[in-house]
Amino acid sequence: MANLGYLQLTRDCYQGCRFCSNPPTGVDLTDREMRSELDRLAELQFDGVILTGGEPSLSPLLFAALEHAAGLGLHSRMITNGQLLADRAFFQRCVDAGLGHIHVSLHSSRREVHDFITRYRNAWQTLVACLELVPEMGITCDINTVICAYNADHLDETVRWICGRFPWIRHFVWNNMDPDGNRAEENPDCIGRHYEFQVSLERAMDFLHASGRSFRAERVPLCFMPRYPWASTETRKIVKEEERCIRFLDQKGFVHQREFLHGKGQACLACDFDPICAGMYSMARSFDERELSPVFADPLPAIRAVLRREPEPALLERIRARAGRHSRTEQPDLEQRGRARLRPLAVPSSALAQDPAWAMLPALGELPQIGEDRVDAIGRPDPFAD
Ligand code: SF4
Repeated sequence: MANLGYLQLTRDCYQGCRFCSNPPTGVDLTDREMRSELDRLAELQFDGVILTGGEPSLSPLLFAALEHAAGLGLHSRMITNGQLLADRAFFQRCVDAGLGHIHVSLHSSRREVHDFITRYRNAWQTLVACLELVPEMGITCDINTVICAYNADHLDETVRWICGRFPWIRHFVWNNMDPDGNRAEENPDCIGRHYEFQVSLERAMDFLHASGRSFRAERVPLCFMPRYPWASTETRKIVKEEERCIRFLDQKGFVHQREFLHGKGQACLACDFDPICAGMYSMARSFDERELSPVFADPLPAIRAVLRREPEPALLERIRARAGRHSRTEQPDLEQRGRARLRPLAVPSSALAQDPAWAMLPALGELPQIGEDRVDAIGRPDPFAD
């Protein structure tokens, strides 16, 4: 994918998604800020902008932003819950102003699950009405699904249903939920374990791959998608050495993201995919490194699949040099990791949230402590060796 910048137009939203990582802040972009952020993306030679929020279609700046982006030669996309786009006239006006693509957030094929997650009555039905309008608008549409404890077991059912009802949808994106956002802290029952989605995610990927569709997954460690490493958003950024710009409407402000790395655990030390894997998001906080397991497979086919060509030796060398690298901001320290190991592993975090008595159980599945020096002494296999 081309380099695209993210611009939050507003944090307002009709819905109240239980895992929302960008809930209302009361801050809106001004017209001047909007124009200057788009100008900055054009100066950075980005190919396009993804308007996001909150719900960007609620922003009074929406049409001006679409028109300004078009004037700068930036392609415009929008991440939307589809509520306003279910109105044909409104949808058409967006397209006329330059909207060329939408990412629609649909979290389940099951109406009651989607409405429960979004906390908005008829959210599912309205979103389906929006999707039905897409072909006549002549634009393209992807599906974005946030993985949480409530949809983790039927991701495959959701993609099968979407492809049956809207066969022209060709691309799907899963984001494993950000468990550290405000809303997730209020609704910890949404935070699943990785094992809860592993099977249905693989089945969903198998189905889409067999049907010739494309897909991406973000915040999913490669050991939870070992047959499709090239579909990891972070891996693609790592291999293609791409960047990402996001303008948040909170204290984070403008973020120019050049590093795609989360937490690395003990298993990563022995893993052939370490150089191309971002690791585990929120490791030793909400998620548990004992769920990780090393992959023993050559990462070169994944690199080729991302690039669609043979990598140059210099690029391969730079990727190889990433082995053992830790994030300066996201890597938990050893004390934090040690504390996390004392928590029960085999219990879904939703059960922990509902019944804190689980936390009194002794730790399950404790790993013997193997220091990094021991692993080095054993001899780390060179994933790029012939
Ligand atoms: S590097 Fe770590 S997180 Fe990534 S696939 Fe290997 S074990 Fe899993």
